Amino acid sequence: MTKSTARQFESLKIWESFKDRLPWYFAVSTNHMPAKYLIAKCIPSNLDRLSSANEKELWNEHILLTEVFLDKWKKVRTREMPDLSKAVAGGHHPSLLDLSVELANRMLTHCNFCRWNCKVDRSKGTRHGTCQLESTSRVGSYFHHRGEELIFRGIGGSGTIFFTSCNMRCSFCQNGDISTDKDNGIPITPSALALMAWQLRMEGCHNVNWVGGEPTIHLHTIVEAINLLDSFTKPDTRQLKYIQSVKSDDGNYYFDSWQTNSEHAFYQGQLFNCPQLWNSNFFMSQEAMHILRNIMDVWLPDFKFGPGKCAFDISRTPWYWETVTGNLKLVHEWGEDMVIRHLIMPNHIECCTKPVLEWIAKNMPEVPVNIMDQYHPDNLCDPESSKYRERYNDISRACAPEEISLSYQYAKELGLNFEPLLYEKSAAFYEL
Ligand code: SF4
Repeated sequence: MTKSTARQFESLKIWESFKDRLPWYFAVSTNHMPAKYLIAKCIPSNLDRLSSANEKELWNEHILLTEVFLDKWKKVRTREMPDLSKAVAGGHHPSLLDLSVELANRMLTHCNFCRWNCKVDRSKGTRHGTCQLESTSRVGSYFHHRGEELIFRGIGGSGTIFFTSCNMRCSFCQNGDISTDKDNGIPITPSALALMAWQLRMEGCHNVNWVGGEPTIHLHTIVEAINLLDSFTKPDTRQLKYIQSVKSDDGNYYFDSWQTNSEHAFYQGQLFNCPQLWNSNFFMSQEAMHILRNIMDVWLPDFKFGPGKCAFDISRTPWYWETVTGNLKLVHEWGEDMVIRHLIMPNHIECCTKPVLEWIAKNMPEVPVNIMDQYHPDNLCDPESSKYRERYNDISRACAPEEISLSYQYAKELGLNFEPLLYEKSAAFYEL
């Protein structure tokens, strides 16, 4: 991506509809503002040695430092703190970000990353929770994603990193190869993961898009990787070769020409700057939410099921509605940038689509919603597959045109902000 291509992203017509809705993400992705993790790095902890504090002391410190973070973030946004480079270069150790890494690693020993709250010690790996994971994370693939919303894929793609395994069991999962196969891909250290993110951003991706499967179950690896993001000057060739084995852009005619270029990725010319996008089923614990609050620049939650039994019947997930709506409310109360995705499913308009859209209209009507019509039967719902299960008969087809138009009509009646995302593929939004 050349410099002029970076400016093309900033000039996309779609920002006329989204600049005010996602102001922080827009400013960070175009390097007019520093990503949150850079601010978190400037905030020193009063605890000299994090490893000698107990978890309660760490959480108390996290609560205090979050207040400091919010104050500093506000000053950055209002340009009362113009020179962040000096503050970062000051090297505060331990910082709020170090504290978040320590907390995530403590949580791993009685895992409560998500609502299952399995309490297993994943650092030992002697017992497994619902996600079946131990402490090592694996990545199935990473690449410049050209299928995400235009505000995320832009010109250079969304820098998407696909982790293995999941904490839900969606029978129709369209990433079943990685979500149901925890051993897919390659094992990854925080340092190698940071290199993936660094490379994608340096090649011109507009964000790093943490997804799976589900990223929450890899919280400890991701937070530690983010803490290492600005540590590269020249990547280690052996490590680069290792991660490239799962880089799916290789051989793609469109992306062969991507070269790393610091023009894409620096704030104030000195700080490696990369917007963090949390692309999640939102079946997270509140603790995980609080860790991510100081790190994620934009949230991209799925909101699939209504308040009835569908989440349990289709995804074997209890407590779905109360967990996801609770987490959505938190992000909204925090005033963060967010886009909600809802996938229309056949035969689930009355029980899922309508209550989901009604809840959004009642609680956060201004938040952009992507109402997606691309459902296709996959995994256990695909009648052509040997894995097919008859009990998923009602979702074993694509949505009928009437189901899709009814959903859009309903969203319109509710006054939801969905049309710019729906019609983004129209040529008009590409105009500069
Ligand atoms: S991430 Fe969730 S499913 Fe996995 S062990 Fe932890 S609490 Fe359980």
